[in-house]
Amino acid sequence: MEIKIGKTSGFCYGVKNAVQKSEEELLKTNGEVYCLGELVHNKEVTEALKNKGLNFVENIDEASGKLIIRAHGVPKQIYEKAKKRNIELVDLTCPNVLKIHDIAKEYCQKDYYIFLIGKKQHPEIIGTASFCGKNHKVISQKEEIKEAIKAVKKSKIKHVLIIAQTTYNMKTFEEIVEEIQNKVPKNIDIIVKNTICLATELRQKETEKISKEVELMIIVGGKNSSNTNKLYDISCENCENVIFAENKDDIDIEKISKFQKIGIMAGASTPNKSVEDIIKALNDVVLV
Ligand code: SF4
Repeated sequence: MEIKIGKTSGFCYGVKNAVQKSEEELLKTNGEVYCLGELVHNKEVTEALKNKGLNFVENIDEASGKLIIRAHGVPKQIYEKAKKRNIELVDLTCPNVLKIHDIAKEYCQKDYYIFLIGKKQHPEIIGTASFCGKNHKVISQKEEIKEAIKAVKKSKIKHVLIIAQTTYNMKTFEEIVEEIQNKVPKNIDIIVKNTICLATELRQKETEKISKEVELMIIVGGKNSSNTNKLYDISCENCENVIFAENKDDIDIEKISKFQKIGIMAGASTPNKSVEDIIKALNDVVLV
């Protein structure tokens, strides 16, 4: 059996930084440390941090003392609320996300209409949208383009900025941009900034490559992780057999041992151990 493991698998630098710094905070702080939402979309990582004393809350009103802001970032109102309530923030927003906030602020001030391509309910999009002002639309899929263009026409704004969620599907982003450019009236100019992060882009490209070369593809990561779901979608386009597993317990190792070529890729919030456990289980079955 040949196993191809993605070189870009596992924690990206934004997630690695968030996990490391949170652990450091837990060691150096005497009082309670809170985190707004899951630090990363992965059950095992969340459980491990909980066991080390991190308190996860869904609302800033439940926090006091020190509050960690995760790599996805938060809406600007959270910064204002924390200041008012004297909560010390440990801001672990990924620099790539902060860069998008800055772009959104800049073009909002220049009175652009902003199209934000990404998943509506994703925390990163909710955060970025708060910096876009009232003239913005989140576009999650192609079917929403028509409505977004209608809104721009109604606003009478003649400049549109298109940006994306850092972990959005590269191919879909390009298709959406092309369709917008074809449908927007000629008197409205469009600026496109591809804000999909490099770590995401490389991971998606490698997933596409590996999934074309193997008989079975295993995508490892949290089911609620947006970037991992995209890796699954990409694999399904290129490979007949794809498994989405949070860890080795989700895989029937005996059943898949009939495949001669297996590919493995993990999302940005997946710890290396989850991948290592699967590889070990596969190797054990081969050696029997
Ligand atoms: S996926 Fe990219 S933007 Fe998101 S945390 Fe990782 S490095 Fe940062």
